[in-house]
Amino acid sequence: MLDGHIHTTGDDKDPKLLLKSLKMAGMDGGMVISRHPQSFPLLGKSKDPEQRLRDILAYTRGHTRLFPCFWIDPLEKNALKQVDVACKSGINAFKIICNRFYPSDPRAMKIYSAIAARKKPILFHSGILWDGQVSSKFNRPLEFEALLSIRGIVFSLAHISWPWCDELIAVYGKFLNAYSIDPEWSARLYIDLTPGTPVLYREDTLRKVFTVGYDVAHNVIFGTDCSTAAYNVKWAHEWVDRDTAIYKKLKVDAPTRESVFGCNLERFLGLRVANEKPKKLLMGE
Ligand SMILES: [Zn+2]
Repeated sequence: MLDGHIHTTGDDKDPKLLLKSLKMAGMDGGMVISRHPQSFPLLGKSKDPEQRLRDILAYTRGHTRLFPCFWIDPLEKNALKQVDVACKSGINAFKIICNRFYPSDPRAMKIYSAIAARKKPILFHSGILWDGQVSSKFNRPLEFEALLSIRGIVFSLAHISWPWCDELIAVYGKFLNAYSIDPEWSARLYIDLTPGTPVLYREDTLRKVFTVGYDVAHNVIFGTDCSTAAYNVKWAHEWVDRDTAIYKKLKVDAPTRESVFGCNLERFLGLRVANEKPKKLLMGE
């Protein structure tokens, strides 16, 4: 089992505590996101990009089940260079939060294209954004349609885009249909289940994701949003148990459940064959 969404403060140097907590939560590892860029002052002090990259690589080094993810601000002047250095250093993925620009912003699109060209995936925040700023409008799933024009891009939208989960499912369908029409472009969208969704909405949302009729089995990833320094074992357990109970109720089959809790993260990261032939979604479906 893997946790697809773990944050690091950047101060903790030794992953031992995290690995112990993950084990207690029944997890073998997960994707660990670097400290935030400077454009998120509310999250506390940032560090320069080189230092943040060094920190996350040092933290995950030697641990084959901890996958480093570099949080990048695509509007920073040297973002292209950051992508280059991060890819050469062995980063597995990038994280982006569109906090003051639309996903379709040409400056940002250039950076996504560079990441896609290097065959690395991007985890985007999506849905309501709790940053005390006027920013949620930038994070609606529909705004990510713009990424259809980037060849070979692999990206996920976090938090099931709550409260715009229906909109996310529709956009997911759109990407699946586009893939059916032209697999050459093969833009792939993953749904990151990280809460996000308040408990009240969870069953309703998972029911929609898993019973809408779209081929989602290999494109949904479980995550917790826990932090490396204080991985909340109890909270992680609660979400795994709650989701599992919902899946059983919805009759989601065991292989799909196992993929969501585990190897779909590896598919997203390009470490395992993705769903090469998803069930086609044709006009009107
Ligand atoms: Zn997060």
